[in-house]
Amino acid sequence: MRFPLHITTDTIRHQVRQAWRGKKRYPFVLMLEPLYTCNLACIGCATERHTGKLKDRLPLERCLQAVDECEAPVVSICGGEPTIYPELKDLVEGIIERRRHIYLCTNALLLEDTVFDVLEPHKRLTINIHLDGMRKTHDYVCARDGVFDKAIEMVKESKRRGYHTITNTTIFKETDIDEVEELCALLTDIGIDGMLLSPGYQYESVDLDIFPTRRDIQRKFTKVLAFQKRFRLTSTPMFLEFAAGLRDYRCSPWSTVTFTPLGWKGPCYLIGKSHTWDWKEFWEGTDWEYWESRQDRLCQNCAMHSGFEASVVRELPGSPRDMVRMAAWNLLG
Ligand code: SF4
Repeated sequence: MRFPLHITTDTIRHQVRQAWRGKKRYPFVLMLEPLYTCNLACIGCATERHTGKLKDRLPLERCLQAVDECEAPVVSICGGEPTIYPELKDLVEGIIERRRHIYLCTNALLLEDTVFDVLEPHKRLTINIHLDGMRKTHDYVCARDGVFDKAIEMVKESKRRGYHTITNTTIFKETDIDEVEELCALLTDIGIDGMLLSPGYQYESVDLDIFPTRRDIQRKFTKVLAFQKRFRLTSTPMFLEFAAGLRDYRCSPWSTVTFTPLGWKGPCYLIGKSHTWDWKEFWEGTDWEYWESRQDRLCQNCAMHSGFEASVVRELPGSPRDMVRMAAWNLLG
């Protein structure tokens, strides 16, 4: 199966429970950003995400409270660089105790000491390593030499030690899709469990012409569609078709909620119009109807999986063909 069975069944159970409660909107994923401190300053990263001080990190208890409040079955620990978070081991164990699934998103530089040596592999823990291209490209994006070699070494080590391991790749304006295909082939040879490809998003705080327009995204993902069946991509076929401009969806920004050192961030993972410490204020105070419509200028070039993969799932009941495709994609992947 493309996604481990327990993640699939827990997610379906969550959907049934929410439908039973009569809820139309509910989170699937919590993007938990315990700190805005990083040991890199990647060129495509929102400035605020790598310039924070360690002393301003979220307390462990506040992170776990956020996990409880939003009830999402999947928690993506990101940041900042989560392996710098001193309480990471307790955070991972606390989330596993709550029977949630963790994607630990990392640049892999500190993975050995902070994860491999202190946390056993667990079916609820996935290591998600950032890789934006082959050596020259990835080191350029990360603004440091040697990061690609370290990431590949850590993918191998992660697999050797028995962790479920995936990668995530952001596609920028200048990304050469042939190189992405080469990266997918390399990772497949190593035995990677999944690869997430996602278009870059123009953060307001990044003043560089590196982000793709909607048209750029469509061109690049048309090429991705041509090779996607050969690799274990974790982006659904319908999402890839959406990114390639072959189908359209409303956004589902509520599906991926974000908790940061400034509190709940609204309306979505990408846009920080507001921050609040109060879950109810965030959830009930965000105009979901407006942000679903994508009419805001900040949504014009967005095709992020965090907004649209849940839209794919939301639309499935309306298309038996897509339901069959999705089931086959997951079961046979
Ligand atoms: S379209 Fe993108 S930027 Fe706009 S609300 Fe959805 S996820 Fe956020």
